[in-house]
Amino acid sequence: MLKVAKFGGSSMADAAHYRKVKEIIEMDPSRQVVVVSAAGKRTSDDHKITDLLYLCSAHIKYGVSCGSVFQMIKDRYISIRNALGLKTDLETAFDDLYQEMNEGISEEKLVSRGEYFSAKLMADFLGYEFIDAAMWLQFSMDGSVDQESSYEALRRLAVGRKCVIPGFYGAMPDGRIRLLDRGGSDITGAYAAAALDADVYENWTDVSGILMADPRIVPEAQSIRQVTYSELRELSYIGAQVLHEQTIFPVREKNIPLNIRNTNDPQDPGTMIREAFDEEDQMKGSLITGIAGKKGFDIVTVTKSGMSSEVSSLRRILEIFEEYNVVISYAPSGIDCYSVVVETRIFDPVRYQILADIQKEMKPDHIHVSENIAIVAVVGRKMAFRSGSSGKIFQALGESNVNIRMISQGPEELNIIIGVKEKDFNNAVRSLYDKFFASV
Ligand code: ASP
Repeated sequence: MLKVAKFGGSSMADAAHYRKVKEIIEMDPSRQVVVVSAAGKRTSDDHKITDLLYLCSAHIKYGVSCGSVFQMIKDRYISIRNALGLKTDLETAFDDLYQEMNEGISEEKLVSRGEYFSAKLMADFLGYEFIDAAMWLQFSMDGSVDQESSYEALRRLAVGRKCVIPGFYGAMPDGRIRLLDRGGSDITGAYAAAALDADVYENWTDVSGILMADPRIVPEAQSIRQVTYSELRELSYIGAQVLHEQTIFPVREKNIPLNIRNTNDPQDPGTMIREAFDEEDQMKGSLITGIAGKKGFDIVTVTKSGMSSEVSSLRRILEIFEEYNVVISYAPSGIDCYSVVVETRIFDPVRYQILADIQKEMKPDHIHVSENIAIVAVVGRKMAFRSGSSGKIFQALGESNVNIRMISQGPEELNIIIGVKEKDFNNAVRSLYDKFFASV
């Protein structure tokens, strides 16, 4: 049994968290490969080490001394080391880094040092080996990760060993350090799990998994125990954000379950994400898995009599949006009318060009734009097997006087998407939560 355990910035923020991580690792001998982020915030007004490193780099770019910011970073790691009674020689490493900065270091190398130092310290603390991400996570020239050679390299380095790996970066073919996206240590962990064919990829953070609804709207929202990869995609597409979006692809490819856990509450089982759950699961528990949503959408509705019988009308509408690079989030349709749901921030700069083009090309009877729309996604794999979900949704929203502006059910019956006015958004999420979860 092998578990790859990734710990995020909040789990690496200070010595107290390092101790919690050690306890978690020692609780389960299959946690042999550990991936870490740079130290995160200790309090809400603290700074993430990665942000401070970017700040250092900006100072260097503008020819301003970054001495005091650099000192903050160094002090942070030294204080963790001292509090843990470790002997890791950080002084020499920071001196070398400072010299490299004076000689001209790349921004990516500098910023990657947060993860690097975290992993060095954690390896020392756990008595695990340190494996540098630059030794195995390999990018191709086009900037994508070369999965095959990375996996092979990690297998050579890590099979049968207990090790700590820094997240967030890898190396280009010429050895230069390259970063993944912000939040990318999640992705490193997923690649490591896939490379080593782990039995589980554990992602340890500061919440007990993915919540059934946004806690800013539903403060008592419970965490989801089991969710499929497809459901998670639906939920995170429209707002629920715990993991970096790209995290699921490497583990899903290898059918490795992903378990989101809370470093501050290790007894909580968190959220388990799998390709599918057993059939028994279909009939148990709440009809839906979670509710997600966000504000900031417009719905453009084009109406023209006879349009549904024309072969190319929908394609032509979609092409106009494509020409202006506007991603279409949803496209519900009726007879002789097509609606397109778009994010306002993307649509706004090209709004009038698009409407003019639709007018010119389609000669519709009517174009209507509903503004200030919020989208609510009610997601649940069980909706396909059990009836009554849409009835419950309408009932909940009706009872709360929320006017539904748009409704669309995904073809796989995995989700029901509802458009409401932004002012009704919180009310809609709240009443759906109460309807589906409060009694479970
Ligand atoms: N430290 C990086 C960031 O803050 C990567 C990560 O934590 O996943 O974005």
